[in-house]
Amino acid sequence: KPKFSNILIKINEEAADFYHKVLVSTNAGRPGYNYAKQRGLNDEIIAHFRIGYAPKQNNLLLTYLRDQKFKDEDLAESGLFVQSQSGELFDRFRDRLMFPLTDEGDYVVGFSGRRLSPYKTEAKYINSPETKIFTKSKTLFHFAEAKKAVRSEKHLILYEGYMDVIAAYKAGIKSGIASMGTSLTDQQIYMLRRITKNIIINYDGDDPGIHAEERAARMFNNIGGFNLGIVVLPEKLDPDEYVKKYGWEKYQEEVKGALTPTDFFLKRLAQKYNLANDREKLAYLDEAVKEIAQLSNPVEQDLYLDKISQQQGVSKDSLKVNFTKYRRQQN
Ligand code: ATP
Ligand code: MN
Ligand code: MN
Ligand code: MN
Repeated sequence: KPKFSNILIKINEEAADFYHKVLVSTNAGRPGYNYAKQRGLNDEIIAHFRIGYAPKQNNLLLTYLRDQKFKDEDLAESGLFVQSQSGELFDRFRDRLMFPLTDEGDYVVGFSGRRLSPYKTEAKYINSPETKIFTKSKTLFHFAEAKKAVRSEKHLILYEGYMDVIAAYKAGIKSGIASMGTSLTDQQIYMLRRITKNIIINYDGDDPGIHAEERAARMFNNIGGFNLGIVVLPEKLDPDEYVKKYGWEKYQEEVKGALTPTDFFLKRLAQKYNLANDREKLAYLDEAVKEIAQLSNPVEQDLYLDKISQQQGVSKDSLKVNFTKYRRQQN
């Protein structure tokens, strides 16, 4: 890797090394290491993702970086410290498992730290604030590495959480990425489009996850040019939990069984109506046809009209009448 010239990147790179070393080779890092093990992270995973631990004791990072002759004014802008009213610096991350966040060149630009304790008194994850080198809306966890895997895996898989990307990696899927806890942004979608048009979305199987998948799928469709697959996991599981419960072979089958966006939208829609009731069924069919009318590919249009015609026991010709009406409204 070429040397980095930006001082803030240099500081964050040093911090990543520090946290990592603390985790793998110090007594102060024991709580982090035990937690990592308990979450199923082995040494190879810890090394690949450069996972670290921010120790409990205050200002160990500050002391370490000052010893390396970094200036306080640069440290203050690195995102790694909080500053008191009087300008004093304190380590921002303490007693947390540390995930380095990297830019497109795989240089560390920030961190996300997970609390170890199950108690919900503190935020589960804390991120670096926005800095000159770290913009959340333009950062994707594991993006630089996932790019390399696209050639062999033929797609990128978008996850909700860091632990999901890591679980996928353990399952042999190296093309996993995640946004920074914030919702997906258009800029991130443009980043992906430069790499591949084949995107699989696999958020958590709970209600917020499925809702976010729908939102993300609409965003991809609006920007256009993608070949999307959508995975919905059962039992409200997230990918990490799914792999733990059912194993990675079954998980890979879930990925292979990814739905097309239209299939996904139509399934979601069907769940909102009581299809045993004719009035609701008619409303569903109307919405479903409206959805299908948004497709530009005539073969896809035909496929889904056929599908709901068969599923709901109504003739395709009758569906086509409304379909044509909605098509006309769009033009
Ligand atoms: P874990 O498996 O460690 O419990 P998760 O990834 O399953 O984490 P979720 O609650 O599903 O956690 O949240 C998904 C993602 O949202 C997280 O990976 C993280 O990026 C982000 N996130 C969750 N909680 C917070 C928080 N309190 N502050 C900031 N980001 C958060
Ligand atoms: Mn979630
Ligand atoms: Mn989750
Ligand atoms: Mn999880």
